[in-house]
Amino acid sequence: MNDLAFDTTPNSLEAYWMPFTPNRAWKRDPRFVSRAQGMHYVTPDGRQILDAIAGLWCVNAGHCHPRIVEAIRHQAGQLDYASSFGLGHPAAFEYANRLTEMAPDGFNRVFFAGSGSEAVDTALKLALAHHAIRGEGQRVKLIGRQRSYHGVGFGGLSVAGIGAQRKHYGPLLPGTSHLPHTHDPARNAFSRGRPEHGGIAFAEALEGIIQAQDPSTIAAVIVEPVAGSTGVLVPPVGYLERLREVCDRHNLLLIFDEVVTGFGRLGAPFGSQALGVMPDLICCAKGMTNGAVPMGGVLVNDRVAAGLMSQPEGMAEFMHGYTYSGHPLAAAAALATLQVYQEEGLFQRAADIAGTWEDAVHSLHDVPGVTDIRNIGLLAAIEFGPQEDKPSPARAIAARCFDKGVLIRAAGDSLVLSPPLIVSTDQINEIVETIRWAARAG
Ligand code: PMP
Repeated sequence: MNDLAFDTTPNSLEAYWMPFTPNRAWKRDPRFVSRAQGMHYVTPDGRQILDAIAGLWCVNAGHCHPRIVEAIRHQAGQLDYASSFGLGHPAAFEYANRLTEMAPDGFNRVFFAGSGSEAVDTALKLALAHHAIRGEGQRVKLIGRQRSYHGVGFGGLSVAGIGAQRKHYGPLLPGTSHLPHTHDPARNAFSRGRPEHGGIAFAEALEGIIQAQDPSTIAAVIVEPVAGSTGVLVPPVGYLERLREVCDRHNLLLIFDEVVTGFGRLGAPFGSQALGVMPDLICCAKGMTNGAVPMGGVLVNDRVAAGLMSQPEGMAEFMHGYTYSGHPLAAAAALATLQVYQEEGLFQRAADIAGTWEDAVHSLHDVPGVTDIRNIGLLAAIEFGPQEDKPSPARAIAARCFDKGVLIRAAGDSLVLSPPLIVSTDQINEIVETIRWAARAG
């Protein structure tokens, strides 16, 4: 089949309202890609762009992997859709079995959704339902964290901690509060991996938040194990462990939003395994299908699942779900993706190359304007704080990198990096040297 004829004159760009994009400015200076393979995008005029962000933290096995493409093709010809409400199809059951085999011990059930946002809202509702069926229906309050992103549903937005994204939407869910974020450049700048300072104190702030209200009214705490889109904020040593302890002390569920850290990003199937702390619910999406078909899900531990399954039979155990939960195309793509991850050993590959990655990104420490560098697994952020009253150059640097053939994302003051797990040492060098050039070219 031929490529879609593509008209890029301004009028033909009006109808598509792009998300999280300053549409009018973007459309005066648009950038397109029309193909992709492996580590690269290709622009309509044939330029290769090295993808240093795996699409949007999702294309972990590289673009258009033939096994995944073929699985989607095959499924589309076999069964396009089946209602997820009370009608089964093989791919969703098969994938649920394979996924829970790979998940941490004690996570033997998965509830499917269509995106990360849906996974987060599903997890928040599961937490409330968990308490309600145990006779603690007063536990309805949720605790999130500053500088966290949990998608755009009303629940996820309420627990997330990005003020600018809450603007215009009123008070959102009542009773939500927020932990302090863990970014502490005064003590932890240029840490390699987990920062040394402040972990226990940052986590103990949870105790204060709990004590400021009636602890028996709180349902759950939700955090990203590593905050991704707010600038790759790596948890300091001891932080997640102490959060777990405080949650246990007060019978709160701990939810990890692993939409970014899932599927090998930290060198293990899930961040919980890489970081050695187990939550009660794990939200995932993105790398689940290698980004090829929208899909999300919540892995549920046995304790939460047993409670919900103990209700009288005959009614849905959880009054929740989506038209596209466990969609055949998504399930087939996810199944093929998991096979690719396993057969190509990509999670181990990420673990093996993480040291090279760390050395390469930290080699940028003396580039003019760099104020912090953070990394863990195959994630990194290069921070360019504001200088002499001028805004951070991060966005301009990312734009120059694209023009030079490397796709990087600016998140606030930082460039954020999350290459596909197949990235080579040469490509790591290309990413880092392009940033070095772009920072100096400003
Ligand atoms: N949680 C986290 C941690 C994310 O990074 C994202 C997406 N960047 C989401 C949730 C929302 O996922 P989606 O955009 O698929 O709804």
